[in-house]
Formats: sequence, C-alpha cells, structure tokens
Amino acid sequence: MLRTYAFVLSLILLANTASFSQTTKASSDFEIQKITEGVHAVIRKEPPGLTVNGNCVLIINEEDVIVVDTTLTPGSAREALNELRKLTSKPVKYVINTHWHDDHIMGNQVFRDAFPGAVFIAHANTRDYLPTTGLTNRKQAMSEQGYPGFIAALQSRLRKNESVFGGPMDEEERATYASDIRIAERYMAENPGVEIVLPTITLTDRVTLHSGSRTVDIRYLGRGHTSGDIVVHLPKERILITGDLVISPVPYVGSPQSHPGEWGATLEKLLALQASIIVPGHGPVLRDDSYVKQMAHLFASIKQQVDTAVARGETLDQARKSVNLDEFQNVFAGTSRMRKLVFRNYVAGAGIEAAFRDATMKK
Ligand SMILES: [Zn+2]
Repeated sequence: MLRTYAFVLSLILLANTASFSQTTKASSDFEIQKITEGVHAVIRKEPPGLTVNGNCVLIINEEDVIVVDTTLTPGSAREALNELRKLTSKPVKYVINTHWHDDHIMGNQVFRDAFPGAVFIAHANTRDYLPTTGLTNRKQAMSEQGYPGFIAALQSRLRKNESVFGGPMDEEERATYASDIRIAERYMAENPGVEIVLPTITLTDRVTLHSGSRTVDIRYLGRGHTSGDIVVHLPKERILITGDLVISPVPYVGSPQSHPGEWGATLEKLLALQASIIVPGHGPVLRDDSYVKQMAHLFASIKQQVDTAVARGETLDQARKSVNLDEFQNVFAGTSRMRKLVFRNYVAGAGIEAAFRDATMKK
C-alpha cells in the first residue's frame, strides 16, 4: 500500500475556508462544514502529506441519515459519529463507500455497531477487492516495510533535520512528516481491532435512494482512481460527493490500481452532472468545477501522450522521458516542494506507468 499509496495529499493550503461562514472548528485534524440544509462534510485538515485520512459526508434526511465514506480508522470514524450526534438523533440507515481504499472504509464497523440495521453500499468491485487486494495491502501496511519502516524513516529525517530534497528541512516538510507520523501511528494502533464490513448492496451502474424529500443518486461513471469508484449525487441540491475521482490539490494516482487513461473521460461524465458544490475524497469543498476541469485536462493529456508513445513503439522507460507533464506540475504543485514531490511520484510516476500498462494491454 505504501509504495503506491503513500503520497496522497490532504489540502489545506488552497482551502477557501473564509467563504464558509458556517464552518466550525471541531479539532485540529478535521472540521465540519455545513454545505446545505442537512448536508455536512467532515473535511480532513492534515497538512499536505505522504499518507492521508479521507473526508466523510453526513446527509441528514427527514427520517434517517446517509454516511458517505468512513475514514482511515475506527477512532476517526467515531469522531465523525460524535459530530453527527451533535447534529441529529436520527439513525444512520445507509453507509456508502466510494471505493475500497483503507482511508474510506476502515471506520465502517463504527456505524454498523452504532446502527445495527445500517445497509452498506458500494461498487461490486469494492466488495471483491476488500477481502483480497485490500487485505494484502492492510497486511503490507502493518509489516516492517509498511508503516513501521515509514515512521522510522520520517523520524530519522526529523531527528537529523535531513530534507528529502537535500540540506535542512523547511517548515512545510517538517509539519508534513509530523502529521504523517501521527496518521501512521494511529493506523498501527487501531488496525488490529478493525473488522472489515463488506457492502450488502453492490452496484455496477446506478442505485437511487429516496428518503422523504431527499433523492440520492449513486452512480458509477467509469474507471479512474480505481475500477470501482462511485459518486454520490444530490441532484436537487446540485451537490456531488466524488470519492477519490477528485483529490485536491494534487490527484493521487496508483499503479496498478488506477486507470489514468480512462480517468479524464470519467471526469467529463462527472462534470456533465453540473454540480455546483463538489466534495472531493481529500481536500477542501470545491464551489465550482474549475479544479475538476484541470484534472480532466491533465488525464486527457496523459492518455494522449502515452497513446502516442505506445504507437511509436516506446518502452515504459522511453515513455517516461517522452511524456511531458511540466506544465501540469506547475498548475497543481505551484511552488510547494512537497506537492511537486507528490506530483512527480504519483502523477508523473505511477500515472504514466498505469496508463502505459493499460494502453499496452489493449494491444
Ligand atoms: Zn483512494
């Protein structure tokens, strides 16, 4: 998990929190944002990091509650549940997992235990992955090469003040590693008690929930971040909860789990839903679709450049040199060294690799 999944950013630097008059500070690691009547997002606030926790959304209906994603640990899920209890005493009826990565599912049991009747909904591939690839990844994360090694390496760098870029660290790098260690240590401490709760309803296209006056449309729009990403659309409120199809400030791409060659087309379908508020899997609530359009351009360019490289008969190593994403790195990472590192590793690195694999597999 760590090799491909380590460098996911949770964004606070681009967060336009000033525009959210109803934001309340819940803790240093997350905040609750009221998006509209009855819809509240639990937004993670850890600094841009090498490992990450995920956003969670609470949809309070007339009679019941729908939860979208349950964060990286039971403890952080319990924090989200505590926030829910401050908002309502209504029961959670549905829990939707946008995909199978740990930072979106590890808190499932908290909601199952608190609401034994709750129904879990995910893509059919999520149900397949959780006990197979998911289990392998969870074991790997707990092994010496996983989080223990990761924590030791970061602690050593902090102790020696040794930047990964050479020379001493700046404040951004130091704060990032400190946060990464906290997330990893919490995962290590809580993982042994985690029971994986599988979805009891799976979909491969669309399921629509009707609860009172609320309509919640769960859609599969195509492959992207994984092969089982679903989005949760509230058409009347024009709110879209995207899971990791949208990650800000730098999209996370994994190899082999992501499909960057198809991600752009999937995002075009997502944009066609014309949501006015977009809640990403990581990063702040987006009030327009400009960031998603940038992501769609990025993945369209990766597809076009990798397809061209494959058509020329290039190897993966040759494609890594010929595909040029510098312009996009400037857009997504700006002047931040940590974001540039993430972009290089996971968009240019894993992204080109995964797109190349898919493009050559089709031949
Ligand atoms: Zn993910």
